[in-house]
Amino acid sequence: MNKTSQSAAPIGIRRGDMVKVMTGRSKGRTGKVLAVNPETRRVTVEHANIIKKHTRPNPSKNIRGGIVDKEGPIHVSNVMLVCPSCGKHTRAGHTTLPDGTKVRICRRCKATFEH
Ligand SMILES: [Zn+2]
Repeated sequence: MNKTSQSAAPIGIRRGDMVKVMTGRSKGRTGKVLAVNPETRRVTVEHANIIKKHTRPNPSKNIRGGIVDKEGPIHVSNVMLVCPSCGKHTRAGHTTLPDGTKVRICRRCKATFEH
């Protein structure tokens, strides 16, 4: 069965996963997922999609004003999981362990993604 509904589908990417950016300005870059936003279906990937963020100085929070480089969110459809075992980008499959735990697995080498 191949589900085509998009918004209801689970993201399948979690914080701490390694992903590869498949399209856009940071195409080809691999990095760790810093944040996942299920509502916008966007992930923030370390060192990818760097944007210039303008900040105002806020002395009470010890923030200096200026422009800082910051990772911008990328839509999940533009990134793919990178398997920590075989090192290739892959779609996640799912399997259930003998103890009933559901885990994500690499569809190529069947290694689990759980950290
Ligand atoms: Zn693999």
